[in-house]
Amino acid sequence: MTSTAFSPTKKISTFYPPQRTLMGPGPSDTHPRVLSAMARPTLGHLDPVFTDMMEELKSLLRYAFQTTNLMTFPVSGPGSVGMEMCFVNMVSPGDKVIVCRNGVFGSRMIENVQRCGGVAVVVDDNWGEPVDPQKVEDALKQNPDTKIIAFVHAETSTGALSDAKTLCEIAQRYNCMTIVDAVTSLGGSPLLVDEWKIDAIYSGSQKCLSCPPGLSPVSFSDRVIELVKNRKTKVQSWFMDLNLVLGYWGETRTYHHTAPTNALYSLHEALVILYEEGLEHSWARHQRNHEALKAGLETFGTKYLVDEEYRLPQLNSVYIPDGVDEKEVRRRLLAEYNLEIGAGLGDFAGKIWRFGLMGYSSKIDNVMLCLNALETVFSDMGKKVDIGSAQAAAHKVYEENALNAVSVRTS
Ligand SMILES: *Cc1c(COP(=O)(O)O)cnc(C)c1O
Repeated sequence: MTSTAFSPTKKISTFYPPQRTLMGPGPSDTHPRVLSAMARPTLGHLDPVFTDMMEELKSLLRYAFQTTNLMTFPVSGPGSVGMEMCFVNMVSPGDKVIVCRNGVFGSRMIENVQRCGGVAVVVDDNWGEPVDPQKVEDALKQNPDTKIIAFVHAETSTGALSDAKTLCEIAQRYNCMTIVDAVTSLGGSPLLVDEWKIDAIYSGSQKCLSCPPGLSPVSFSDRVIELVKNRKTKVQSWFMDLNLVLGYWGETRTYHHTAPTNALYSLHEALVILYEEGLEHSWARHQRNHEALKAGLETFGTKYLVDEEYRLPQLNSVYIPDGVDEKEVRRRLLAEYNLEIGAGLGDFAGKIWRFGLMGYSSKIDNVMLCLNALETVFSDMGKKVDIGSAQAAAHKVYEENALNAVSVRTS
């Protein structure tokens, strides 16, 4: 007899999630090929067939990051764990780290530095603007003992893209290492780890890679490995200590933790899809769908938060039009169209919406669904709209901007 104390009050049966369209700041829609990869038989994490797959996964990630770094692998955990992995390994007590903050995710980096016993020198820029390289250089002049510069490449809280190449050049001139958050940029915006000489980078599976959440691709240069090996104090986290994790992801394959095998199949498949499409082609697709969505949104009179020059194609932050109940719009999109869009964060809560066009979600069908749904909901709620013109504006962009400029990778 089981105890009634542990029996649920209502009958619980299999969970069937509704089929949504995800156009928020992440997660994005998962490609059906990726979902089915996840449903394949579970293997032991030391099974030779599985470890062969891990090797392929590492080389696919090197392609995505455009790097030859040997230390390129997915961390078992969301993007936030990838972030912590960089900081706990690279920051020793007393180390000075310049952290650029132009949105939510920069603040988290500051927390990380402080929790590692480091000293964070904060370079602030307004939310919605990119990191200003001149301010970083000024901070370096004032703090010549700085060891690391950390910044977010693509700020998902605002939709601003920072100039990672220039920021890394500055870091090298001042003999500093770099930690780059590429959670939202990887796969969606040009990102060249080796060419830009990035030292440590982390990303996430659920944004432009269109894989379920829970994995964080990372890559570390040889300089980072050297730094970690020469640390005077032990890395404070056992789970994230690179020296130990490498025992599993490196040659020796010793047990460290049980790798999330099925989740890793899904990342493998997502990266195969990216490789088949080709990085340049993926970047171009994100740009094209962004331009179509933008043309449609502008027919409602909406204004973008970020200047065109720094705008992320995969994350469209727009001011909410006057006289619109923003919560009600989001509620209706979800209830009536199964469509999720993102709300504003921090100071922008209630002021902006964030439309994600990430990975598999970056497609014509989603752009059209979203514009159609907004037109109907706006019109229902008493806002004057010219039905059909948002989609017509988007169509015009698709017509004028054919996707033939970049050829699809075939080999
Ligand atoms: C989503 C996101 C993160 C956090 O990733 P999680 O997978 O939610 O932990 C970090 N940085 C940026 C820029 C992000 O967009």
